Amino acid sequence: MATQVKTKSVKKQAKAKPVQGKKWVYLFEDVKAAEKYAGSWEGVRSLLGGKGSGLADMTRAGVPVPPGFTITTEACNGFRKTGKFPAGMWDQALAAMKKTEKATGKKFGDANNPLLVSCRSGAKFSMPGMMNTILNIGLNDEVVEGMIKLTKNPRFVWDLYRRLIEMFGTTVFNLDDEVFEHPMAEYKASKGYKVDTEMTAEDWQALVATFKEVFKKHVGFDFPQDVNKQLEYATKAVFESWNGKRAIDYRKATGISDDLGTAVNIVTMVFGNMGDDSGTGVAFTRNPSNGDKLMMGEYLLNAQGEDVVAGIRNADPIEHLKDQMPKAYKQFMDITGKLEKHYKDMQDVEFTIERGKLWMLQTRNGKRTAKSTVKIAVDMAKEKLITKEEAVLRITPETVDSLLHPQFDESAMKKAENEGTFFAKGVNASPGAAVGQVYFDADTTERMTKENKQDTIMVRPFTKPDDVHGMIASQGVLTSEGGATSHAAVVARQFGIPCVVGASAIKIDLEKRQMTVGDVVVKEGDWISVDGNTGKVFIGKIPTSAPSLEEQTDLLTLLTWADEISARKGVRTGPNGYPTRGLQVWANADYPKDARRARSYGAVGIGLCRTEHMFFEPERLPIVQQMILSETSAERTNALNELLPYQRKDFDGLFEAMDGYPVIIRLIDPPLHEFMPDEEKLLEEVITMRVKGETDGLQAKEDLLVAIKGMHESNPMMGMRGVRLSISMPEIVEMQVRAIFEAAADCTLRGIVVKPEVMIPLTGTVKELEWIQPRLVRIAAAVMDEKKVKFEYKFGTMIEIPRAAVTASEIAQHAEFFSFGTNDLTQMTYGYSRDDAERNFLITYQEQGILEKNPFQTIDRGGVGKLMDWAITEGRKTRPTLEVGICGEHGGDPDSIEWCHLIGNNYVSCSPFRVPVARLAAAHSALKHAGKGIAEDK
Ligand code: PEP
Ligand code: MG
Repeated sequence: MATQVKTKSVKKQAKAKPVQGKKWVYLFEDVKAAEKYAGSWEGVRSLLGGKGSGLADMTRAGVPVPPGFTITTEACNGFRKTGKFPAGMWDQALAAMKKTEKATGKKFGDANNPLLVSCRSGAKFSMPGMMNTILNIGLNDEVVEGMIKLTKNPRFVWDLYRRLIEMFGTTVFNLDDEVFEHPMAEYKASKGYKVDTEMTAEDWQALVATFKEVFKKHVGFDFPQDVNKQLEYATKAVFESWNGKRAIDYRKATGISDDLGTAVNIVTMVFGNMGDDSGTGVAFTRNPSNGDKLMMGEYLLNAQGEDVVAGIRNADPIEHLKDQMPKAYKQFMDITGKLEKHYKDMQDVEFTIERGKLWMLQTRNGKRTAKSTVKIAVDMAKEKLITKEEAVLRITPETVDSLLHPQFDESAMKKAENEGTFFAKGVNASPGAAVGQVYFDADTTERMTKENKQDTIMVRPFTKPDDVHGMIASQGVLTSEGGATSHAAVVARQFGIPCVVGASAIKIDLEKRQMTVGDVVVKEGDWISVDGNTGKVFIGKIPTSAPSLEEQTDLLTLLTWADEISARKGVRTGPNGYPTRGLQVWANADYPKDARRARSYGAVGIGLCRTEHMFFEPERLPIVQQMILSETSAERTNALNELLPYQRKDFDGLFEAMDGYPVIIRLIDPPLHEFMPDEEKLLEEVITMRVKGETDGLQAKEDLLVAIKGMHESNPMMGMRGVRLSISMPEIVEMQVRAIFEAAADCTLRGIVVKPEVMIPLTGTVKELEWIQPRLVRIAAAVMDEKKVKFEYKFGTMIEIPRAAVTASEIAQHAEFFSFGTNDLTQMTYGYSRDDAERNFLITYQEQGILEKNPFQTIDRGGVGKLMDWAITEGRKTRPTLEVGICGEHGGDPDSIEWCHLIGNNYVSCSPFRVPVARLAAAHSALKHAGKGIAEDK
C-alpha cells in the first residue's frame, strides 16, 4: 500500500500545474517579489507573517536557513472565508515544494532520499505557542524504512515517526494529549522505564503501531500515508488554528486584530536529535529579564526543538556550547551579533545543529520585561545602534507605568525569611511582586479572579498555550519546572505578570490540589507571595511598596532624553504667542510632600493645588464649619483669620518644594455643604437624643441641622461652588490670596524663587472675573507692599464650563492663564454626571460602540477637544502670551497629552505618579508631529 501511495504522490507532484494568477506562495528567496507586491517591509510582514518575513530576510542576508516557502496570510484569510484553499494556492505550494526539493537535493515522500518538512504558523505579530506547528511531515511507513537505511539510526527514525503521528492526532485532529500519553506511560511502565531515553528502537517501533491504532480509533481512518495529503492536512490545521480559543484569547489580551490571519511556513526539517553532534536551542541576544548585554539561552544536545521550548526537560545554558561545539558556537555568536545589528533590536532566535552544521530556524524581536526594554533601548542608543529618539519611541507609556508598580519591601522579605515563611526559590522569570491565593489550573484561576474577585497565583508544573487565560487573569505565576525561556516565562514577561519558574523543590500534587516542600504544605486557596525579581516564594502575604525612580538609572536617562526632545525649539510652530517647544509636564499636588515627589519625578511646575483639601484636616474643620455658619461678615472674618496661618504654612511648604518653578493654587471650589456633617447622620443623632431625653448639646445640634438643611441644593455640583461661592462670600478667597502672597513673600525673603499663579475655578462669564479678580489683585499688591518684596505672579482661571471655552476671547481679557479642568468640562459638555455615568451606562455605551473610549479617561477630541482648541485660539487672539495647561485627570493620559500638544498647550499637569509617563508621552507627541504647525495633524 505504501508503495502505491508513494507513486501517487510523486505522480501528483510531477503534474503540478504552472503557477498562474495571484501569488499565494513565496519561496524564502522570493523576498524581492514579496516586497514588490506588498510595497514595504511592513507590508511583507503582513503578507508573510513575522516568522516568514524573518526567514526570508535571513535567507537574503546569507544566514544559514533551511530552505522552504511561505503560504501567505491572504491565503489564510481566503481559506477562513470559504473553508477551501484559494484557487491556485495548492498548485503553487506543490511547485514551491519542487523547488525546495531541488535546493535540498532531497525528495518529499521518496524513501531513498527523503525530505521532511515542518509546517509552522506565523502571524504578523508574534503569538508564541498560540497556533499550530506540525513537525516531521513526509514520514510514512516506506520513508521510515528508507531513512533507517540512510541514517543507520532506527531508534531516531521510529521516534520521529511516533512524534509525527502523535502531533497529527493532537494538533490536526484535536485529540487529547492523553490518548497518546496514556498508552506511552503504560508501555514504559510495562518495561520498567522511567525516562524516554531508555526506550530502544524496537520500543519506539512498537509504540508507532500502537499510536496508529489509537489514531484510527479516534480519527476514524488510518494515519495518512500520502505525504502531500499530510502537508495539506497540516496546512489547513494551521490556518484553522488562527480561530482556536487560545489564539482568540491571546489576540483579545494583546489587541491584535482578528482579521490579520496567519501565514504557513513550510520549512525543511533539520534534526537536533541526530546524536551528540546535534542539538537544538533558543536564545536571546540580551537578557530579556534585566536587559544585560549577555547572550542568554538554553539548548539540549540530541533533542528536537519542542523539548527546549516547552521547558519540559531542563536544558543547558548556552555558554556550555562553547566547550561542547566550539565551531558551531562561534558561528552562532557571529550570526546572532549580525542579526542584532541588522534588526537593531534584541533578537529571540531558535537554532538547530544537525551533525555539527548550524541552522537558524527563526529570529524575531525578543519579548522582554519593562526593565529590560528600557535598559536595552538606552544601551543601544549609547552603542549608537539606534538614536536617542528611537530609544524614546521604543518605550511605551505602559512600560514606564509598570516600572513604577509596587515591589516587595526589602525589609518585609527579610523579616519573612527570619520568621520561616520562605517556601522555595526558582528562576526569576518575570519581575514584580504578586500576592494571591493559589490555584492549580488555568480555569479555576480565571474563575476565582473574575467571579470571586480574588487575587490569584496560578501554580502549575509547567504551562502550555492552553493555560494563557489563567495566567492573564492571575496576579502571578509559579511553576516547578522549566527555565527562563520556558512557555510560562515568555508569556509572563510579555504580559508583565510576575513569574517564578523551575522552583524544583516544590512537589505539586494536582489530584490533592496542594504543593509541598518537605513537610510544608500549601493547599489550594492558601495565600502566597511570589517575587519575580528574586525568584523567591513565601507563604502568606508580604507588604509591597512603590519603587523609587531615583534608583532606576536607565529610566531616568531615558526620561532625560524625552525632556530634551520635548524642550527642543521648533518642535512646534504656531502663530505668535504659541509655544515653539513641546509640552512641559507639571503635577497636581496639594501638599509639600506631593510637590517633592512631583519634583523627584521630573515635574517642572504645580498645575493644580486643590486648597479645599487643606480645610478637611481635623484641627481646621471645626474652624471651617464655624466660618460657614457665621451670620455676619465680621464673624466670618474672625474664623478666617484663624485659618490664615494654617493656609500660609501650607503654601510656604509648596513654594519651598517648588523653588524656581510655577505653582498654581486654585481658590476654594466645592460647595460648602461638603465641609459640614452628613445631614442624615446628624438627624439620626438628634432623634436619638430626643428619644433618650438627652438635652446636653441638643440645641446646638438642632441649630446645625437647620443650617445644613438651609444649605441644601438639588444639584450642588452645578450650584453654589467655584467662583460663584467666592462672589457670595469673598472673605474666604480674600483670606486665601492673602495666605498665598504672605507665604510667597516670606519665601522670597528666605531666597526662594516663587512663581505663584492664582486660579479661579468654574468661571462661566467674564463678568465673574471682572467682579472678583481686581479685589484679589489688590490684596496681592497690598501684601507685597507690606512685606516690601516683589515677585512674578499671575491670575488666571480654569476652563471647565463650555461657556467659558466658547467666550474665551473675553475671559482672556482678565485671565493671564487658562487651565482646562477637563473633569468638569467633560461632565458639562456631555451633560453626564461622571459618577452616575460610570456606574450606570458608560460600559454599555462602550460595548455598543456609542462611545469609543471612556471620555473621562481620554479626551473626546471631537467635542470636548474642539472646545479646548477653540478656547486656546480665541484666548490667544486676545492675549498672545496666554499660558495654557490642563489639570483634569486627562493630563496623565497619553492620547489626551497628544491632543494637548496638537492644540498648543504649554503644559499638562497630572498626578505625581503619572509624571514619568506624561514626560514620555510628551516626547512621543513631539517626535510624531515634529516641526509641524500647531493643529496641522488634528
Ligand atoms: C477638573 O474639573 O478637571 C478639575 C481639575 O477640577 P476638580 O476635579 O477638582 O473638579
Ligand atoms: Mg473641576
